[in-house]
This record gives sequence, C-alpha cells and structure tokens, in this order.
Amino acid sequence: MKKNCSHTAAYEDNYALRITHYELSHALILTGGTEAGREEEAKNLTAALQCDAGREAPCKICLPCRKVMGGGHPDVFFLRPEGKEIVVAQVRGLRTDLRLAPHEGRCKVAVIRADALNAHAQNALLNILEEPPERAHFLLLAENPSLLLPTVRSRCAVRRLQEPPAETDPGPEAAALMQALLSDNEWTWVQVCLSMEKRPCDELSRILDGLVLLLVRDLPERDVLTARRFGSIIDQIRTLQDMLEFNAGAGHVCGALSTAMAAARRMSN
Ligand SMILES: [Zn+2]
Repeated sequence: MKKNCSHTAAYEDNYALRITHYELSHALILTGGTEAGREEEAKNLTAALQCDAGREAPCKICLPCRKVMGGGHPDVFFLRPEGKEIVVAQVRGLRTDLRLAPHEGRCKVAVIRADALNAHAQNALLNILEEPPERAHFLLLAENPSLLLPTVRSRCAVRRLQEPPAETDPGPEAAALMQALLSDNEWTWVQVCLSMEKRPCDELSRILDGLVLLLVRDLPERDVLTARRFGSIIDQIRTLQDMLEFNAGAGHVCGALSTAMAAARRMSN
C-alpha cells in the first residue's frame, strides 16, 4: 500500500486510521450509495488528505478543507464527462497536472467519474495508475466498477458506501389515520382513533411516527389552510408520544388525539 502524502505525525495517525477503515491506497474506487453520496465521500476524503487539523481531519474549518469543500483547491482535480464521456485528452491533461509539484496542498488528488471513462481514457488512466506521480491520489467514483477494465480495478482499493436507507413505510394504520384526518367526516376520525386504543403504548407510538411522516410528506403539497391546520397537529402528536413514554394509557392518548383533531377542524371553520 502506497502513501504518497507527507504528513505531520498526528496527521499520519489519522491517515493510517483512514487507510485501515477505507483501505485507502493511492487509488481508491468509491462505489455503492448514491452519486451524490459518492461525491460527498470523495470530498471528505480529499479534505482529509489536505486538512491542516491533524487527527481531526477533515475538520472542514481550516483553509485547505474549505477550499476542497468549495471546489476551489488548486491541487484537487475533477474529471467529469465532456459531453457523454471522459475522453483520452482529458486524462492526458490530468497526467500533466499531476506531474507538477502541489501548489499549496500536501498532495494532488484526482476525483474521476470513472463510469464515464471511455476505453481509450481508461487505458491512459491505467498508465498513470501503474506509475503514479509522486504525492498523487486517485478517487474513482463508479456506480458499476465491473465496467472498468480489470487492469484498472486491480490497481485500486475499493470502498463500498452504504446504500441509502429505504424510506420508512408509515404502515397501514398511519395511512388510515391520515385518511380519516383529511376526511370531512369527524365520525370516521373518532372510529379510527377508538380502534387503536387497545394497542400497546410502543406500538401506538410507532403508528403516530408513521402519521407524522405522512403529514410531513403530504402537507406541503396541499393548500395553505390545510397545511396550517394539520401542521399544528404534529406538535400535539409529539406531546402525546411523550405521554406514551410515561405510560399514559393508549385509550387516553387516542381520546386526546381525537379531541386535538376536532379542535383543529373547528379552528379552520
Ligand atoms: Zn481541515
């Protein structure tokens, strides 16, 4: 494993940790997660490589960190497709840039949208990876690393990002509450609330979480009056969940919920 940057001892510790954690070598494929997630991780790693803060790197406060995060660090190069793909001329240009000593950073970092490299560009990149310039790091962002040449892949460590969590399913009970909440029939609302009053407290609290999720997701798309009227319910739901934490009876909570709903409806009439 190759460490190309020169560091203070503290920084070296941190960098070593990151190597352990990310298997960071001079060339790293970042895959998994979303495109935005890979870009973000590439920025974090690049900032860590350039940061002045030692063990805390990336601090995101020092000048090098801020330059990296803002996209204006002179020793960080982004290779993005010109048109549909990254062509060989871009990779050759990168090689020229990387051969020069860093302007102000600890090292030079190339962040490459590797999915977009065409075959010629990959071969040109392979040449650089085989004989990397001093103090150069490569972060290859790839949704599908299997599209890269095996010879390119073999030169890189791989860091797989976690997939983004699937959006929580609010559940059928929360959906029924939401539907009743938005209906004009108060009796529907009372009935749904009554049907839940025998639930255990933790289960009822989860259902209310689902209702809040639905309110937060759906209300902005409704008219202003509806959004205001039911938006105020969210705070009351949170208060009721606090009551459940302290073992208030589910029946009482369902009753209070029903009353809060009725009050919100009267407020708007
Ligand atoms: Zn920093």
